[in-house]
Amino acid sequence: MIKNSAIEAAAYEIMARAAIEIPEDYKTGLRGMLDGEKGELSHFVLEAMLDNYDAAEEDRRPMCADTGVPRYYVKAGNDAHIEGGFIGLETALRRATARATQDVPLRPNRVHPLSRQDNNNNVGINAPEIDYAFEPDADWVDITTVHKGGLFGSDYRMLFPGDGIDGIKRFFLDVMYEFGRRGLACQPAIVGIGLGGSKDVTMTLGKQAACLRVVGDANPDPQVAALERELMDMGNAIGMGPMGYVGNSMVVDCHIEVGYTHTGGMPMSVHTFCLSSRRAVARLHKDGSVEYRTDPKWFTPYMRRESVEWSMAEAALAAG
Ligand code: SF4
Repeated sequence: MIKNSAIEAAAYEIMARAAIEIPEDYKTGLRGMLDGEKGELSHFVLEAMLDNYDAAEEDRRPMCADTGVPRYYVKAGNDAHIEGGFIGLETALRRATARATQDVPLRPNRVHPLSRQDNNNNVGINAPEIDYAFEPDADWVDITTVHKGGLFGSDYRMLFPGDGIDGIKRFFLDVMYEFGRRGLACQPAIVGIGLGGSKDVTMTLGKQAACLRVVGDANPDPQVAALERELMDMGNAIGMGPMGYVGNSMVVDCHIEVGYTHTGGMPMSVHTFCLSSRRAVARLHKDGSVEYRTDPKWFTPYMRRESVEWSMAEAALAAG
């Protein structure tokens, strides 16, 4: 049985880790951009960002004053038994969010959209969001928190099949140019793209692609992976570098996730996970042990399954 107290303690811990410790994969990606950055000022800004990551960890203070909007992604298997079920889990996550807001501290960003009521704890109606997914043959619960910043770092367009790959590239460039020009998200960013599904699913897939995959990761579909690389190179060739300065370091990685869609459409979303790419994960086992990591491992073969039936052995065969 996974205890509510263990869930609350782990969620509190990952809230602090996410705010303070930028994941190593993102930092490695940023260091890799230093050599290729031609703009003198942009080069200086990249170095300052890396210094800031170190300073945040040394001082145990949040990397950015803007907490963004903390949220959770929960993945569980059928054999995970949670005290109080998922109601118990949600209660623990809300309590952890409130405590972490006070203690870390996190900026209490969440307000009622009309009254602007702020409970000063990042908890309110539909906040923090909790998304769920499942995994076969698992007796654990994975809890990932993401503090996504960038109020405006998302966009959507309904493309049509006739727009093809050129239409995808055009929308991507339109978005990246506007985000950079208007300062809508601090770059370099992990860019997540949702392609297909219905409108809400497109938005969800794009956000998950940005926030729940690590820098250096590629989609297992070779056609999708090739498009990821091409869009990343295009994003770094529009003339903007970190924080919109002249340069060529805007996209630290590009991730695409697809969903089957209506035959008449090709919806697409673009999301940026900013230079404070804050994510942390805890896996809770039924024996009470907890493992911490920064890779959510969200998009498993089961999550990307295509067939009617699911079989781990078939998935392994298909993957070669
Ligand atoms: S976009 Fe990211 S780095 Fe920039 S202010 Fe917002 S949270 Fe901070």
